[in-house]
Amino acid sequence: MGYLNQCTLCGNIHPSDRSCDDWANRFYLNSDNTVLDKGFVRLVDIMGNDTSIVEAARVSYGGGTKTPEQDEKLIAYLMKHEHWSPFEMCEYKVHVKAPIFVERQWFRHRIGSFNSISGRYVELKEEFYIPAFFRKQSKSNKQGSSGMLDPDHDTKFVGGYTAMCNNAFQCYELLLEAGVAKEMARMVLPVSTYTEFYWKVNLRSLFNFLKLRLDEHAQQEIRDYAIVLQKIVAQNNPIAWRFFAEYHLNRP
Ligand SMILES: Cc1cc2nc3c(=O)[nH]c(=O)nc-3n(C[C@H](O)[C@H](O)[C@H](O)COP(=O)(O)OP(=O)(O)OC[C@H]3O[C@@H](n4cnc5c(N)ncnc54)[C@H](O)[C@@H]3O)c2cc1C
Repeated sequence: MGYLNQCTLCGNIHPSDRSCDDWANRFYLNSDNTVLDKGFVRLVDIMGNDTSIVEAARVSYGGGTKTPEQDEKLIAYLMKHEHWSPFEMCEYKVHVKAPIFVERQWFRHRIGSFNSISGRYVELKEEFYIPAFFRKQSKSNKQGSSGMLDPDHDTKFVGGYTAMCNNAFQCYELLLEAGVAKEMARMVLPVSTYTEFYWKVNLRSLFNFLKLRLDEHAQQEIRDYAIVLQKIVAQNNPIAWRFFAEYHLNRP
């Protein structure tokens, strides 16, 4: 794969050994996949596609790809019987902007590589996740939510919440101005503060992430990120995605 360069034709960043038609139009590279009020998932790079899965699975007996029908059948078989290792041959690298509480859930997925903004090194921006409304505590699921507050309460609380975030940031700035280290001043910031990270993950582990985080038991905010990732995977690995959804996603 060539170096990532700004393309003189389309203006996007893509590998120098691929044409922009081949790359930027087919994938979401550098496009704005906005999530929540200020977050995003941007595809940085991909290695491999459905063919890579088939080639890896057939390497044991020296075969490559066969007819499209046979290749598709093989992917279906691998997926159904959970022969996962060929799916590790595809890798995705994404740039994510998300509130810290979403990042904390994301970082529990240990099979993958992360690099995150360091609040010890840089001053964090005054950017908070401001929900459009507050969800009510679920009665049946102690971890979950269900329904909305009534609109009057909601306006009041979203307003109060926003003011609290702004106050926290003012306090953060006061501490920095007073010479407090960034690593300590950040302690006043809420977990709704936006952060950014890179995540490189193979398709097997990404499927595990999608299974857990598209599920209705996952928090809505991280589900919103999973939905964008699902679209990216469906574009690059359409066959693997189709059989993953068929065999492994919970359906109502
Ligand atoms: C709805 C929901 C609620 C959750 N609630 C909580 C909570 O209350 N508290 C909390 O702490 N976490 C919670 N989690 C996080 C959860 O326990 C997992 O840590 C997280 O979902 C990552 O899943 P994973 O381990 O499968 O992924 P990865 O860490 O990416 O691991 C992928 C797979 O690799 C294998 N693996 C990885 N590490 C090991 C290991 N050390 N030993 C053996 N096998 C390993 C496992 O097969 C695993 O499925 C929750 C997750 C969800 C989706």
